[in-house]
Amino acid sequence: MSKYAFVSGGSRGIGRAVCLELARMGYSVLINYVSNDAAAAETLRLVEEAGGSGELMKFDVADQQASLQAITKWQEEHPDAYVEVLVNNAGVRKDNLLLWMEQEDWYDVIGTDLNSFYNITKPFLQPMVVHKKGRIINITSLSGLKGLPGQTNYSAAKGGLIAATKALAQEVAPRKVTVNAVAPGFISTDMVEGLDEAELKSQIPAKRFGKPEEVAALVGFLASDSSSYITGQVISVNGGLY
Ligand code: NAP
Repeated sequence: MSKYAFVSGGSRGIGRAVCLELARMGYSVLINYVSNDAAAAETLRLVEEAGGSGELMKFDVADQQASLQAITKWQEEHPDAYVEVLVNNAGVRKDNLLLWMEQEDWYDVIGTDLNSFYNITKPFLQPMVVHKKGRIINITSLSGLKGLPGQTNYSAAKGGLIAATKALAQEVAPRKVTVNAVAPGFISTDMVEGLDEAELKSQIPAKRFGKPEEVAALVGFLASDSSSYITGQVISVNGGLY
């Protein structure tokens, strides 16, 4: 019987690398995304090329009703299965100084980067608790640890995600479900397009941006049985940048 993993924002960047890592570990991967059909189809193709299997689940993780509907439908279609590994990865950033930030940009980022944690985790959590087995991995950010100027919305969302990780970890540890956060620094994806790469690299002790695969490797470890006594942690993947 297949083991299932769900990756929000699996169509591109870090999410795509995580889908491939989990597929190589033998999971059938549910690849969520919101709009980029071509990129999502390419992730599925790469998963299948690697010998794995998967399916696309297109919905907006910031939309609670849409999320619940899609997850409930999947569960009804797979009555004997459940998602053992959940990676809350989908995210956006809409940077501005708070003085100029529109309310919409505050709410959009909180909705996609933090409210999605509730929208997705709650429906997938119950079967994990019942089966006494589960891995929840939340992709936060260096911004959520230290707060970055120009990103009060993103820092608030990612900081909230860290606190939620620590709280939920304690709630579900007795049921053998672990909850951890991964905090990337600067990783080469569409999200960092437009940033001053040369200037930023000079501040990173490793003198380079990370690769999505370098984040996915840690997610794979946290998803594995080897990480069973690690929970409520935030682990950075940032080339030494704090
Ligand atoms: P990316 O390349 O911009 O990809 C974002 C992914 O999220 C895409 O798959 C996108 O789907 C999906 N997504 C966005 N909004 C969504 C929504 N409302 N519902 C469902 N899916 C949605 O980003 P990335 O760099 O891989 O980032 C992945 C995660 O790592 C994010 O949480 C980000 O905050 C975090 N992170 C990234 C960096 C970095 O340097 N790259 C650093 C720290 C943390 P579509 O393809 O359909 O648009």
